[in-house]
Amino acid sequence: MTRNKTLNRREFVVLGTGAAVSTAVTGMPSIARAAGKSVVIIGGGCGGTTAARYIATLDPTIEVTLIEPKKTYHTCFMSNEVIGGVRNINQIAFGYEAIANRGIKVVHDTVTAIDADKKLVMTSEGASIPYERCIVSPGIDFKYEAIPGYSAEAAEIVPHAWKAGPQTALLRKQLEEMPDGGVVSIIAPPNPFRCPPGPYERASLIAQYLKTHKPKSKVLIFDQKETHSKRKLFQQAWERLYGFNTGNAIIEWFPVTLGGGIENLDASTMTLETDLESLEGGVINAIPPQMAGKIAHVAGLVDGDWCPVDKTTFESKIHKGIHVVGDAANATTMPKSGYAANSQAKVAAYAVVELINDRDPEEVPFMNVCYSLAGSDYGFTVAAIYQHNKEKDVLQGIEGSGGLTPMDASPLYLKREADYAHSWYNNMTNEMFG
Ligand code: FAD
Repeated sequence: MTRNKTLNRREFVVLGTGAAVSTAVTGMPSIARAAGKSVVIIGGGCGGTTAARYIATLDPTIEVTLIEPKKTYHTCFMSNEVIGGVRNINQIAFGYEAIANRGIKVVHDTVTAIDADKKLVMTSEGASIPYERCIVSPGIDFKYEAIPGYSAEAAEIVPHAWKAGPQTALLRKQLEEMPDGGVVSIIAPPNPFRCPPGPYERASLIAQYLKTHKPKSKVLIFDQKETHSKRKLFQQAWERLYGFNTGNAIIEWFPVTLGGGIENLDASTMTLETDLESLEGGVINAIPPQMAGKIAHVAGLVDGDWCPVDKTTFESKIHKGIHVVGDAANATTMPKSGYAANSQAKVAAYAVVELINDRDPEEVPFMNVCYSLAGSDYGFTVAAIYQHNKEKDVLQGIEGSGGLTPMDASPLYLKREADYAHSWYNNMTNEMFG
């Protein structure tokens, strides 16, 4: 491979700021595209929209096609605020018009197969779309059967709300209709899963709603593991805000070996049998174990549940020419988050542009910050910068590069973290859909 580098890592990182990118793209004239320089992106969520935008920005001569069935994407991030009644569902909804206006071809369709040898993507509408390189970011699918009695059909009545949209609205409606004194049960999944702190943020924001609107009610978390992300910070917040560990606790948490196990879920009677008790008639939020989105399995990109990838380019270790980013990828220690998907998509976009132009991509570090809200003015974070440890073939947090909000932080500190979470949301959605 010839090495004809025109963009170094530093220039890439600088280009990676939202402001620089929008300046670069605004007013971009239509550009003649060289034949064959084409990238097809599957999935218009965090990974897919970011990759599309960055490829179009880094090399406007590449034809970028983004395939996504939905015309409106609801972000999972801040969907817990919708469930907790803090924001409206329309405030987490975004369309693809601005992406199309950037010269990216947006196709609303579902990919049904990828022919890695012929470099073709097939869709449910019968289209067959050629690519030089393909980026796959389909998110997750669920292992419903891991919760006895649960199924895709049952999820229409007992929502998981782990893909935002109608499920988010259904869970919110059930909470509004629940009488005071009702019990909300959350089944939290085993690792690894999308958004490790998500179930506990959800419990917190539901508790905040109950505290003011239905104070005799409770949230019970039945956890399918022993501990969870940011546990000490969440539990301190719950002690301060929701009476955790007292007789008046609004939130109770049961790890799997101390009552968290699930024996059965019957959606027809809304009954949940746990290792400790039988709960009938409350609101149930069942979040099943997860795996890479279906198309990754159909296309033979998985090894087990997730897609093995090269940690420098996010190219599949199974099929050359296809890159997998976001939740579907096995990014080792990097969590499955929107921030991580966004960071991986930028790195993959850069790698794809370099490879299509016969250049070797340099190694670029990855970044993740996971914000969590325990109440309206109460936020905390975990952050890290990751680099590829080639010996161990893992993405490893660089020592001292990030950290966790300290325990016992002041109310002002925690309020600022909540403000940063909202600001991150605006930046992220602007980068994806703006
Ligand atoms: P998605 O964003 O889910 O995008 C996948 C897209 O692919 C979908 O639009 C889907 O329709 C499409 N697709 C699937 N199959 C096909 C196909 N066959 N053909 C075409 N298109 C297809 N992350 C954070 O960083 N911060 C947070 O605060 C945060 N909060 C969260 C709260 C909750 C309650 C949840 C559930 C998640 C949260 N996340 C958060 C995680 C974040 O939403 C995901 O990690 C992120 O969406 C992953 O991006 P992705 O591109 O892999 O998948």
